[in-house]
Amino acid sequence: VDISFSSHIKIKNVSFSYNSDKGVLDDVSFKIKKNSITGLIGRSGSGKSTLVNLLLGFYAPTSGEICIDDVPLEVKNITSWRRKNGYVQQDVYILDATLAENIAFGVPKEKIDADQLARAMSLASLSDVVNHLPDGVNTNLGDRGSLLSGGQRQRIGIARALYHGATLLILDEATSALDATTENEINEAVSRLADNNMTVIIIAHRLTTLRRCDSIIELESGKIKRICSYGDL
Ligand code: ATP
Ligand code: MG
Repeated sequence: VDISFSSHIKIKNVSFSYNSDKGVLDDVSFKIKKNSITGLIGRSGSGKSTLVNLLLGFYAPTSGEICIDDVPLEVKNITSWRRKNGYVQQDVYILDATLAENIAFGVPKEKIDADQLARAMSLASLSDVVNHLPDGVNTNLGDRGSLLSGGQRQRIGIARALYHGATLLILDEATSALDATTENEINEAVSRLADNNMTVIIIAHRLTTLRRCDSIIELESGKIKRICSYGDL
């Protein structure tokens, strides 16, 4: 069953535990408007990744529900929902293949749509990277992308999600200290996404990343500690 996402995502009184003895999320409620940027912060172990896994439909809440435009996520519409989402984790997997193949991940070379590829790269702020590669998008990235910086890898991850039509993008910002250039590259990509009808959730570790967020949700031991804006931090 197809699920549409045209207005908002509602997390309603969601609690969750991986195993019955220890609760990981406790009565979490908030709303995400389409085309907004939401920052998710909180200490290690506070439940950020768990919450994202529920939002992506990898786990179901133990109680409460997640609704997309007021339709509860359930088994019958979860496949449709997953197709609309992109999850860019800290360590983006890079194939020993060309940049184009890495972005169109899983699509045979001859079937890669050039327009779709160009759009994905431009929204992910990859254009400058491409211009510096000897064979542009046809440059082989080499063994596991060892030539790429962390920020470039993450932007390839963003472009990959966009190529595959993601409308909700979840970005897990790297915890390790990123250099200022990398940080700026990712920030630039994120604000470009928000200007182009994308809904973004960022698990953020640095204050600078949060500057672009419309709202910031802070978790503490599986509970919402506060929902605020950048100016309130
Ligand atoms: P970090 O900032 O370190 O990534 P986080 O906020 O993402 O932390 P979670 O990974 O959501 O935190 O973990 C929340 C709690 O759930 C922790 O106590 C963790 O040990 C536990 N947990 C996470 N994943 C699992 C799992 N697959 N099975 C059992 N417990 C888990
Ligand atoms: Mg995590």
